[in-house]
Amino acid sequence: MTIKLDPWGSAIPENYSRVMEEFGIYPFDNVIQKIPNPHPLMRRKIIFGHRDFERILNAIEKGEKFAVMTGLMPSGKMHLGHKLVIDQLIWYQAQKSDIFLCVADLEAYSARGISFEQSKKLAVEEYLANYHALGLDLEHCRVYFQSTNNAVRHLAFLLSKKVNFSEMKAIYGFVGESSISQIFYPMIDIADILHPQLEEFGGPRPTVIPVGVDQDPHIRLARDVAARFQKEFKFILPSSTYHRLLPGLTGDKMSSSRPETAIFLTDSDAELEKKIRNAFTGGLPTAAEQRRLGGDPSKCRVYELYVYHLMPDDEALLEIDELCRSGKMICGECKTKAIELMKSYLKEHRARYKRALPKVEKIVEKI
Ligand code: SF4
Repeated sequence: MTIKLDPWGSAIPENYSRVMEEFGIYPFDNVIQKIPNPHPLMRRKIIFGHRDFERILNAIEKGEKFAVMTGLMPSGKMHLGHKLVIDQLIWYQAQKSDIFLCVADLEAYSARGISFEQSKKLAVEEYLANYHALGLDLEHCRVYFQSTNNAVRHLAFLLSKKVNFSEMKAIYGFVGESSISQIFYPMIDIADILHPQLEEFGGPRPTVIPVGVDQDPHIRLARDVAARFQKEFKFILPSSTYHRLLPGLTGDKMSSSRPETAIFLTDSDAELEKKIRNAFTGGLPTAAEQRRLGGDPSKCRVYELYVYHLMPDDEALLEIDELCRSGKMICGECKTKAIELMKSYLKEHRARYKRALPKVEKIVEKI
């Protein structure tokens, strides 16, 4: 059966190897040995695939210019799943890349009916201030709003000349009832991806888009369209990396619209404690059974919190894996540890957020 990736959906692929095979994504294992200081998300295979990442590596090695492009759709509260991209941006910023950060307010309007005013408020308070608090230096990023970026909208229109409805239908599954704004929106998205290579934004250079694998349809379209406009713009095909989607605490995809699935960066201690206590685990029905037979961290959402966020040290992570599998630690104890780590992490984050918010408001005022 053909695999469908839906950039606006909530499904998590069951088999990443099949996705890679079907869409021609290359294993990240092929390039990781060449990265001198890989990010933990790379070492832990959370970033599992890429297209043309060699170009980016080459630029890093030679100290040449390259860009990173990403976006945020301000449609709810920022949760830990969103943090995966920011962790990567911080790493790229340390590699001296140009970072383009788009507030996808046109997408929020088209897909969720959110007004531009609401989008701006959400973008600043829920996303950008959190990004800055996490360590991304927004003063050195090119932040923009889609709705006020004439270069992006103009480019989207030019690029749409060589894309037809049959292609959009095949990629995104649009139907007769799809609104024209939904059908046109991917053109804005690919203009976001390609515009850093326009002369006024630095000219053609390697560009990488770090995405969850559900966003691959946009990447494929952007690469195809970039190839069609070689003569006009001399685009270098954008590179991409793919990370696994952080599953929700309840077992399916994290979603801002279902608070029980996600830990938000603004959660109180009581909220996060309740969510972790109720999280789906790889434990057994009784404590006695689990002490005897051990648990299975590979099926556990609490273990994923350790892997993705709470345990940067690889040896400490391995110890949790062993304690779980041997039954020496059972779920209640393990959750208590995760809750304590998360509380202390979010406590520090809240203090950083308070300091970040006025700075970010000033940055956005100037856009
Ligand atoms: Fe998950 Fe921890 Fe339970 Fe193991 S002990 S299944 S890692 S919660």
